Amino acid sequence: MISNRTWNQFKIKNGNKTLVLDTIRNHSPISRADVAKKTGLNKGTVSSQVSELLDEELIYEKGPGKSSGGRRPVMLLFNQKAGYSIGIDIGVNYILGLLTDLEGNIVGETFTGFKNLSYQSITKKIFHVVDELMAACPLSKYHIVGIGIGVPGAVNKHGQVLYAPNLGWQNIDLKPLMEKRYDCPVVIENEANAGAYGEKRFGPNVNENDLVYVSVGVGIGVGFILNGELYRGTGGFSGEMGHTSIEVNGQKCRCGNRGCWELYASEQALIKKADENADPETLEIMLKKAESGDKEAIETFHNIGKYLGAGVANIINSFNPKQVIIGNRLAAAKRWLENPMLEQTKNSALWFQQEELEISFSALNTHSAALGMAAFSFENFLKTSLQQETPYIEHQ
Ligand SMILES: [Zn+2]
Repeated sequence: MISNRTWNQFKIKNGNKTLVLDTIRNHSPISRADVAKKTGLNKGTVSSQVSELLDEELIYEKGPGKSSGGRRPVMLLFNQKAGYSIGIDIGVNYILGLLTDLEGNIVGETFTGFKNLSYQSITKKIFHVVDELMAACPLSKYHIVGIGIGVPGAVNKHGQVLYAPNLGWQNIDLKPLMEKRYDCPVVIENEANAGAYGEKRFGPNVNENDLVYVSVGVGIGVGFILNGELYRGTGGFSGEMGHTSIEVNGQKCRCGNRGCWELYASEQALIKKADENADPETLEIMLKKAESGDKEAIETFHNIGKYLGAGVANIINSFNPKQVIIGNRLAAAKRWLENPMLEQTKNSALWFQQEELEISFSALNTHSAALGMAAFSFENFLKTSLQQETPYIEHQ
């Protein structure tokens, strides 16, 4: 048994190591002396933590850096290729999988569409996507450090999917299934939360502390970065704004409610308009029609934009964010959605809410959620690998 004293020393030691690694990650290339300066740790402590990190291959050394007089120091760099992470975004009609290094640089990508599949059939598709990305993973010390899966539904803090109405999922235990099959840590999270985190980490607004990400696919989910942190709510269920009623006597939604926002402002509105039995290509077909000047298609997008703006105004009035980012599949229709959406938002949101507000479409090209999931996964690895006395188990 570890005595309290030993435990506290162990915690401090690993806290220092996290601090040293984070400093190298954020300031690469950096000398040992500058790590000591930035962290306030003494040179001996920095030196011993650095040699452990070098042994673990999480950092590497590179020839002499700039000298401020005297001998030029050896520089330390974060080894982002020490391992790789898989980020999956499960949509209502697609699966997007990304393979990234430990900095979120994309090194592999796979996309597959589907319609109306059972949970079993979707899991088979997920296995296929993960198998493909694993096969594409470059040789590295830690190989795949984890898999992150974003789901369009309510996910509790244990990673259980309680409810994803547009997929027909209820109480789904995807995490243990994946962990058993792939023998590595798996994180499951709501896809809009993942998208918000992806925007915060990799988007053009990395320094933004109050950011709202509106994921518009077949449904609508909303992810919040508030005070610089991802806001999940008490049970992890924040952001189900697609199911807020905007028409009390409106259409019936799959969630059981009537007149939900997402029925009027997402791909569902398109699908309904086009054909009761529309296939997953509906958005693509409508985009082509609009591009060729089809008035009805353009009108449909304008109408969706207007409803989108009404809901965005509700978010702005509730949260007073600095930045609202529209992402996911419907962002492809920006050309026709943007003006009606902005006009509606301007009319509906309170004027003083709009002074510092910026509303934009995602610059991450529908990759926000998958990138966010990949980041959750490799950040977990970087944290947990430092909390263990022995280096992280290798999966070669
Ligand atoms: Zn609903």
